[in-house]
Amino acid sequence: MTLKTVHSVAELRAVVAGWRARGLRVALVPTMGALHAGHISLTDHVRNHADRVIVSIFVNPTQFGPNEDFGAYPRTLPDDQKMLDAAGVELCFAPSVEEMYPDGFATRVSVDGSFTNVLCGASRPGHFDGVAQIVTKLLLQALPDCAIFGQKDYQQLMVIRRFTTDLNIPVEIIGAPILREDDGLAMSSRNRYLTPEERAIAPTLDRVLGEITKAAARGAEIAPLLAKGREDILNAGFKSIDYLEIRDADTLERVEDRVRKSSRVFVAAHLGKARLIDNHAIDPINITG
Ligand code: AMP
Repeated sequence: MTLKTVHSVAELRAVVAGWRARGLRVALVPTMGALHAGHISLTDHVRNHADRVIVSIFVNPTQFGPNEDFGAYPRTLPDDQKMLDAAGVELCFAPSVEEMYPDGFATRVSVDGSFTNVLCGASRPGHFDGVAQIVTKLLLQALPDCAIFGQKDYQQLMVIRRFTTDLNIPVEIIGAPILREDDGLAMSSRNRYLTPEERAIAPTLDRVLGEITKAAARGAEIAPLLAKGREDILNAGFKSIDYLEIRDADTLERVEDRVRKSSRVFVAAHLGKARLIDNHAIDPINITG
């Protein structure tokens, strides 16, 4: 195996310092492990931007709510290491909770405003503070030239762009497209929670988002589209919907009537033990043009 795995910040810094001394460009890919092809698409994508790739694997307790799946979240480090090695990744950083949050830890990173009080910020209070805290730490620990995040977690990508800009963290943030299964389901570590029956229902989200996107891009009124989408998702067997909304792609402000500029349709819904999220880009078609 050519992949090297380190568990401490000191070891991570020593490896990165060696690369920097040789003038190499370094990329960081933060993950929570239970890796799938979507994660590997990020490491492949970021290869075009860097000479060395670090993947961090850390299930961050501070971004989970008290009744969420922190305990149940899949932890599969040996399998993850094999996937990273096969993908040609040079370094895996897999710290313990104690390494990241030693006794006495007391610092928060909090992002206010429209990027954090809507969508997952509304249904998972405190989630994005936890994300901002851990990503800030990872960026300062590894000091990469660039870091890559999936549009699967589009709101997270916006939050990360916000605080890295606000805090002048000298890193280029790259967004990467959503990788899907053949039937359209967005790849996710949480898809492992689905029973075979639920797995067959899950692609409904992609289908419904696709239908909404097509109609909204042509200028259809969005309220009836969203109402029908909710109905379809619940009829398919989802337990509940946290949100199904169309928002501006840059500001995340809610689009009220019709799509007139680049937007996205976002969904979070519960199926069995899993809370699944997905989103599609909506680019308005100029019908008169
Ligand atoms: P996670 O391990 O779920 O925290 O995800 C780690 C990174 O992988 C995040 O930047 C995610 O947005 C990204 N990611 C997760 N699933 C996908 C996917 N299906 N396609 C592209 N990126 C993804």
